[in-house]
Amino acid sequence: MKNQNAPVQKNQTLTVTIDDLTHDGSGVAKVDGYALFVPQALPGETAKIKVIKTKKGYGFARLLEIEEASKHRVEPPCPIFYKCGGCQTQHMDYEAQLSSKQKQVKDVMERVAKLPDVPVHPVIGMEDPWRYRNKSQVPVAFQNGELVAGFYAKRSHSIVDMDQCIIQHKENDLVVQTVKRLAKELAIPAYNEEKHNGVLRHIVARYGKTTNQVMVVLVTKGKKLPRQQELIDGIQKKIPGVVSIVQNVNSERTNVIFGKQTDVLWGETYLYDEINGIRFAISARSFYQVNPDQTNRLYSKALEYADLNGTETVIDAYCGIGTISLFLAEKAKHVYGVEIVPEAITDAKRNAKLNHIDNATFAVGEAEKVIPWWHAQGIQADVIVVDPPRKGCDETLLKTMLQMKPKRIVYVSCNPGTLARDLRILEDGGYATQEVTPVDMFPQTTHVECVAVLELK
Ligand code: SAH
Repeated sequence: MKNQNAPVQKNQTLTVTIDDLTHDGSGVAKVDGYALFVPQALPGETAKIKVIKTKKGYGFARLLEIEEASKHRVEPPCPIFYKCGGCQTQHMDYEAQLSSKQKQVKDVMERVAKLPDVPVHPVIGMEDPWRYRNKSQVPVAFQNGELVAGFYAKRSHSIVDMDQCIIQHKENDLVVQTVKRLAKELAIPAYNEEKHNGVLRHIVARYGKTTNQVMVVLVTKGKKLPRQQELIDGIQKKIPGVVSIVQNVNSERTNVIFGKQTDVLWGETYLYDEINGIRFAISARSFYQVNPDQTNRLYSKALEYADLNGTETVIDAYCGIGTISLFLAEKAKHVYGVEIVPEAITDAKRNAKLNHIDNATFAVGEAEKVIPWWHAQGIQADVIVVDPPRKGCDETLLKTMLQMKPKRIVYVSCNPGTLARDLRILEDGGYATQEVTPVDMFPQTTHVECVAVLELK
């Protein structure tokens, strides 16, 4: 169909220059001011493209041939990079990945937060940006007569079978390979999404980098796991570091990986890991940052921004298993952590004990409900740290913080867009953003983590 406003037509081929990169890693070409998004094309490249879709203000095209390649283009080391939806930027060298992430943060600080002058520091990157992930969550299915386990192909629900993922620790690859092979040998059926029957839905592997411990989580449709004992024996035999084998039952029709019921089939309830000398017990369903080396850098930056001298009361909102809270507790008078997942708070309390930290209090609930209640109880926070999920802070929480008037707010964010939106609200309420440091928690992908610090004006 011809789109009246577009200067190009569907199926037209043309040669363009790429002059920008979107936040999801697509190249952008301008044709008479009309934006064409070209996945896999890089800024600075001249390329032959084919238009595949036109809309009112923009369109999409496929990269046919690169006529002049960017000096930042590299051969993606992973053989399934172009099929798999897990990574987006393996075709860019690491230096370009870092500078494009910095630019992305600068852009939203300017456009969304309306703070063009706030310093956005260079992204803190990794020395070796591969094999960094400590958690692998792989869907299982029966495709073309075979049990497969891998990643969903881009924008689809068909699985790209894989035996290794080069951003994962090798131990996690071994879990996926082993469970897949055993499931085939023992004829354990894969879950069938359409018919909502079968058994094995996801294989989840977690690895404690400092302890070398491995946790295997088998997500199944029902409680019944055929040939369970043989499966457990096989996993123990093949995976040297395994300390815990857990079953999670998810009987819903849903894309959410975990269900409510979790049972330990063998070994420990927890996996242990250490960040900067603090030990953490992590249970199967609790959130734990996926890149431990970079987590240390992120939390250290958050702690530096909190600028504590030991007299402060600090609130850690969205505290998960208490990771940031325990970092803060060593330098604060008292820390209050709040988190919505009950198991995570159980872990947080356990972690405080484990590290002999007795100046931290944890509560289960929504940050936007618990913090106003704390405020009403007379708790005065000198510093508030927030680390919300992608959707950012709840508006009620932002309002409460403005009423509580801590001298500093440290904002840890995995989504620059919502970070910028919330910074604008806090600025309008009387805070001044001092600076932002992005930390590369997710090399080879377009995800950006940031930490920002605001002071009461
Ligand atoms: N600071 C922790 C966790 C950050 S992830 C760490 O670095 O490990 C964000 C956390 O917010 C998750 O644990 C999630 O369960 C929790 N969460 C999501 N919505 C919430 C809400 N409304 N109130 C409190 N916690 C919430």
